[in-house]
Amino acid sequence: RAADVVILGAGPAGLLLGNLLHRAGIDCLILERETTDRVRTRARAGFLAPNTVRILDRHGLAGGLRRAGREHSRCEFRTDDGRFTLDYATLGRGEPHTVYPQQELVTDLLTEYLAVGGRVHFSTEALAVTGADSTRPQVTARGPDGAVGHWPARYVAGCDGRHGAARRSLPAAVRRHRDHGVTWLAVLAEAPPSLDAVGYAVHDRGFAGHMARGPRVTRYYLQCERGTAAGAWTEDRIWAELSVRLRADRYGPLHRGPILDRAVLDLESDVLEELRHGSLVLAGDAASLISPCAAKGANLAVLQAELLAEALIDDLRHASPGPLADYSARALAHVWRAQEFTHWMVHLLHSASPFDAALQRSRLASLRTSRSAQDWFAENYVGV
Ligand code: FAD
Repeated sequence: RAADVVILGAGPAGLLLGNLLHRAGIDCLILERETTDRVRTRARAGFLAPNTVRILDRHGLAGGLRRAGREHSRCEFRTDDGRFTLDYATLGRGEPHTVYPQQELVTDLLTEYLAVGGRVHFSTEALAVTGADSTRPQVTARGPDGAVGHWPARYVAGCDGRHGAARRSLPAAVRRHRDHGVTWLAVLAEAPPSLDAVGYAVHDRGFAGHMARGPRVTRYYLQCERGTAAGAWTEDRIWAELSVRLRADRYGPLHRGPILDRAVLDLESDVLEELRHGSLVLAGDAASLISPCAAKGANLAVLQAELLAEALIDDLRHASPGPLADYSARALAHVWRAQEFTHWMVHLLHSASPFDAALQRSRLASLRTSRSAQDWFAENYVGV
């Protein structure tokens, strides 16, 4: 049946939005392409910004991360010139990250939403949004039995990621796109973290990264050739390459374990301008894709979902259309700030020419030696 708001996608953006709308008494329905099991177990992000924790706290949705999340505040850079560590919670605004795997957050948000009677249709893929110019837009979607149905709404919230139906249905948006020309092999290993910091290794053979996900699971990144298949590298080759680039011979061996998951990511950024077309509004990766260098994507998704929820509640509950009219500009201001810092991080961690490599060394030297550069880094690193 119809709903005031049909939300596409049950990721962090769609589920937070669903929770906030439902609690405000707005009838909403989430359509999600994947099964409930897949949604609850898909491992992606893990570093939550202080603002994300504040948003979830504000709405009583931070129980799980308060119980099981761990504060994290150190990052270590390893280069040919040695290594240095920044304790970023003592720099900038003095705030740490909270490490809490995205699938746990998604599970918490889904559990809360279902507990208060929220509606989700799993295994239901949105195909198109039509009538966004009118006050009666409609989502066409294919359900689990393969049948195609139609869901009319007053508003459609596109939280279905970069390849979702919402983006395809936003005719007037301009896409600002940057391909950074860098590819990462992202692996999730069943192994304890190897250092008590986020590790960023700059090496002639390419970048390598280390990020804790919990006491027994660690995410690693390896820069690889564009076009590399996810399964192309054996586990031995992955561990050998990580050890070389993270300079395990000098700084200690890596804790190895089976690879649980792997994916190849081309580092790209794009932003849609505007994020609203009539009755269709976008949030999260659907609105803006950001390369994972600075761990901003899930945090931006949460921030945008809260902004969008407030705007939709004002419009539908209080007949106040101003915040919805301003939503795109407000959300984009945060998006561009995160894009700018992430772009800087891409160039801090990779270089494509000897000239770039010299700039990179100079940037790293500033970060190692200048307190004001460290404060700027810390403020932006944990901020959204
Ligand atoms: P998603 O989480 O992608 O959710 C979209 C949902 O829509 C999905 O459930 C999908 O199945 C569904 N969907 C898609 N198409 C359709 C359709 N047609 N119909 C119905 N449903 C559809 N970010 C951070 O902040 N910190 C990190 O440390 C971090 N690390 C990352 C590591 C990796 C390897 C990757 C890939 C990403 C990482 N990110 C990180 C980014 C982060 O995971 C995303 O930015 C975040 O998931 C965006 O949330 P979302 O709700 O907008 O989209």
